[in-house]
Amino acid sequence: MNTTGWLRGLEVCAGGTGIVSHAGLALLRALADKTGLTGGLSGALASRRPLVHDRGQVLADLACAIADGAEVISDFRVLADQRELFGLVASVPTCWRALNEVAADGPRAAARIAGAVNAARRVAWAGIEARHGALPGVAVADMVLEGVTCLRLDASVVACHSEKEGAEPNFKGFGLHPLGCWCDNTAEPLAAKLRPGSAGSNTVADHLEVLGAAVAALPPKFRRRLMVTCDGAGASHGLIERLDALAARPGYQVIYSVGWELGERERTALRLVPGQAWQIAIDHHGEVRERRADDACGDRGCAHRTCWREEAHVTELTGLLRQGPAGDQLDGWPATMRIFARRERPHPGAQLTLFEAEDGWRYSLWVTNLPARLRGWRADPAYIDAAHRVHARVEDAVRTGKDTGLGKFPSQAFTVNQAWLAAALIAATLLAWLRLLALDGPLAKAEPKTLRYRILHAAARLARSGRRRRLKISATWPWALAIVTAWDRITALPQAP
Ligand SMILES: [Zn+2]
Repeated sequence: MNTTGWLRGLEVCAGGTGIVSHAGLALLRALADKTGLTGGLSGALASRRPLVHDRGQVLADLACAIADGAEVISDFRVLADQRELFGLVASVPTCWRALNEVAADGPRAAARIAGAVNAARRVAWAGIEARHGALPGVAVADMVLEGVTCLRLDASVVACHSEKEGAEPNFKGFGLHPLGCWCDNTAEPLAAKLRPGSAGSNTVADHLEVLGAAVAALPPKFRRRLMVTCDGAGASHGLIERLDALAARPGYQVIYSVGWELGERERTALRLVPGQAWQIAIDHHGEVRERRADDACGDRGCAHRTCWREEAHVTELTGLLRQGPAGDQLDGWPATMRIFARRERPHPGAQLTLFEAEDGWRYSLWVTNLPARLRGWRADPAYIDAAHRVHARVEDAVRTGKDTGLGKFPSQAFTVNQAWLAAALIAATLLAWLRLLALDGPLAKAEPKTLRYRILHAAARLARSGRRRRLKISATWPWALAIVTAWDRITALPQAP
């Protein structure tokens, strides 16, 4: 076998003209322009000083670069290096200056940036509705909840070195500890707060601030029917009271599902649950969570009781805690709050508490205000459990977010990193809008890494004739047609003011 055959006759020279790499970035930049994001940021960051580079344009371009994979500010060059396509783009030092200015302006600049993004979101979501008929629903096991906007809160440690301002130890690691809120329907971040490493996972004030910003980030017509989820032992009086108050507002419906701590009160209640009150849980296909026992018979389709092992159950503890022999033990919590428990067989080698070890099950608790009078699949405890468990989807958003600017903060200064965080949120948002407004099939669900390879980093030739420029995506590129179709869809969007 001749393994070096591909080398024969190959020459490398520097004479190519009109070649563009990262050609697909033009889609994101056009999307930022069409939705009014670039213009909005430009207004938000307008300065009285005469500037060569509009600061809103710089921030929009930084977001595009982060979406494209930029991890440090010097990666901002990705646009400037393709000047034939993108025209005169700010330099890396100008990008630093722009971030420093946003940082120096503090909360005022942050509020103006959020205002510009939120205005563009109204345009983008109207486009999503126009294209798909509605915002995507929220998948719960094998069912889809339509007409509800789902917000998921999650805090995550971003590892970084000690010289960074705010980098501190935390029970999850060492670094910064941002708290964010993602929209499950569109998989986009709505708001986030950069916090020092030692910030708690369940700090009420932070949760309320980020939740408030996330609700404000929603286009008004999508704020009326909400689902809010938060995991860990997230339930605090402050958070539940705020959610209860939101739910009580006339014309609004807010259903929450929030993690709850397993304490002595709950352990006592769990000991009192009769066996038959545990209902089998379902998996993400809507199938009951059971598997073949190790010593099952040879017939895989058998119905022997001993051949199947149930893996997870769910039960409601509200009655036991509210009307048990010890009286109402949830006194002081909203009357609409219900408490549920899931028990699962622990994985071999899992760390168990004493209670779990003696009992043989691992427990997770959560609370919800889903009305008890509700009928239909949503009222089934198996689906109430599934609806809480899908909170875990936020972990995908956090993971891909960390791959899109949230995983690395460029500055020593906390405030500059906050400005970077704002750009990173815009980057993830633009990718979400790209998927929903312009892509199809697997690309419409693809993670940033895949979108980069297939779309954003594609090579093309820029041909000129007269005043027209034509960007020709390589004819052999498997996603050439997808790129062209996406471009047509983006340019066909009405130009936002
Ligand atoms: Zn059997």
